Amino acid sequence: TDEKPLLEISCLTAGYGDFKALFGVDLHLRAGETVAIIGANGAGKTTLMRAITGIVRTASGAIRLDGEKIDMLPAPEVLLRGIAMVPEGRRLFPSLSVEENLLIGGHARRGDGRWNLNAVYELFPVLKERRSDPGTALSGGQQQMVAIGRALMSNPHVLLCDEISLGLAPVVIRDIYAAIPKIKASGASIIVVEQDIGQALKIADRVYCMMEGRMTLEGRPENLSREAIHDAYFGVS
Ligand code: ATP
Repeated sequence: TDEKPLLEISCLTAGYGDFKALFGVDLHLRAGETVAIIGANGAGKTTLMRAITGIVRTASGAIRLDGEKIDMLPAPEVLLRGIAMVPEGRRLFPSLSVEENLLIGGHARRGDGRWNLNAVYELFPVLKERRSDPGTALSGGQQQMVAIGRALMSNPHVLLCDEISLGLAPVVIRDIYAAIPKIKASGASIIVVEQDIGQALKIADRVYCMMEGRMTLEGRPENLSREAIHDAYFGVS
């Protein structure tokens, strides 16, 4: 279809000072889609997420949301436009309770969505039981749930999840990923950054692979051979 993408990244170059981490990256996300980005350590996945959210400035290229250029906007404005991130490492506010962490996400709240404290507690019931505990007293998986819930509290159009399975046990990863279809059903479009290729293929409508700051592969999971993924992930030897 030639339906206009919700989020469109074209020929994006970005980095840290003189160091370039992204070289002409293209990516699009259609409304209602879940897209996964895979790639080895240092491929540039996190930098791409930071560029979308306005934390890392783009050197050239464009990021468009609903056709409008957003790459010059400061990060808080990007959040208000409806792009929220679950950052790598969760980054909870350690002195605050679970509920206070969630409410902070609600400060950037957009009026038109379904997410609020009750909806987050419905998605992750264990967080309701632990609502008064400090975020840091929770298990890694529960902390990840708080980080996801905090991002949802802004009612995002686009939810960016950076390595939400990192360091968690398989059974916990399963619980976390069980939330993704429910979030999708709420109307959000989703990008997950994932080092676990199997997990990415399971959850995503489409998959991108990055290597050394470039996109090396794009396609629907059912159309991607193991060999093509291997070459895109590690390079052709
Ligand atoms: P990871 O899975 O380790 O997060 P990644 O694919 O997300 O990997 P990035 O974190 O985007 O990769 O890193 C891309 C490149 O940018 C790497 O070479 C990394 O060393 C570099 N880099 C990342 N963050 C910074 C920073 N704050 N300052 C300077 N260089 C950075």
